[in-house]
Amino acid sequence: MTDHRKIAVVTGGSRGIGRAICARLGRMGCFVWVNYVSRSDAAEKTIELVKQAGGQGQTVQFDVADFDQVQSAFKSIVAESGSVDIVINNAGITRDGLVARMKEADWDAVLDTNLKGAFACAKAALKPMMKNRWGRIVNISSIVGYSGNGGQVNYAAAKAGMVGLTKSLAREFASRKITVNCVAPGYIVTEMTQELDDAVKEKMLSEIPLAALGEAEDVAAAVEYLVSDQAGYVTGQTIHVNGGMYM
Ligand code: NDP
Repeated sequence: MTDHRKIAVVTGGSRGIGRAICARLGRMGCFVWVNYVSRSDAAEKTIELVKQAGGQGQTVQFDVADFDQVQSAFKSIVAESGSVDIVINNAGITRDGLVARMKEADWDAVLDTNLKGAFACAKAALKPMMKNRWGRIVNISSIVGYSGNGGQVNYAAAKAGMVGLTKSLAREFASRKITVNCVAPGYIVTEMTQELDDAVKEKMLSEIPLAALGEAEDVAAAVEYLVSDQAGYVTGQTIHVNGGMYM
């Protein structure tokens, strides 16, 4: 079944950046568990891309914001695949708004999905990784976790929180040869950013030294490096993929 391939779990692998990461991992020969929350059709399409790239994979539905669902999903994955070697905490949502108008539910949803979800998945994967004395966790943070952004206090707090989570996990598990790193994308063309209006996009473009919005592939390339054996001496770090927008 999953033979000697590295076993990877990518949360939010059904679309956007997560899909590009899944395809990359497929190209590296991994067995990829493609997580989604609602779009099973999109997750199946990702599996096709993983297979075309030379990997294998299967879809797995769970809500990263639901701690118990995450634990039982990882139990099933380990039961079926024998292990988990790589986890990419990519699932994320936005509920933007100025603080004056932001509802408690908007704060909770964003923190639960982006930050608690990453904690839940890392916690579930660490046991099998410790057993193997090898593991790779990559957390997809964001430029706004570093720069802040008006209208995104919930999202920026969650993404900055992922950086602290990353560094702390990196320290706790380094002795087991488990590395934990972040990739912080700038503005990448996906459904998440398609919602922005043209004036906002134009303004962003004017602030990017490389004068282009990023592609999901740009983020996937950084993830590929961090999960590779070549990055075995890199932990607790963030790779910024933002065209120079934040330095
Ligand atoms: P998309 O909105 O295109 O895709 C979001 C993905 O997350 C989907 O696969 C979706 O699944 C999944 N998802 C959402 N909520 C949950 C949940 N509760 N449980 C499991 N899966 C969930 O996002 P992007 O590809 O643009 O973003 C991916 C990551 O990169 C996010 O963490 C985002 O914050 C981060 N990022 C993105 C940037 C950008 O410019 N696009 C910039 C900086 C960071 P489903 O298909 O089932 O809905």
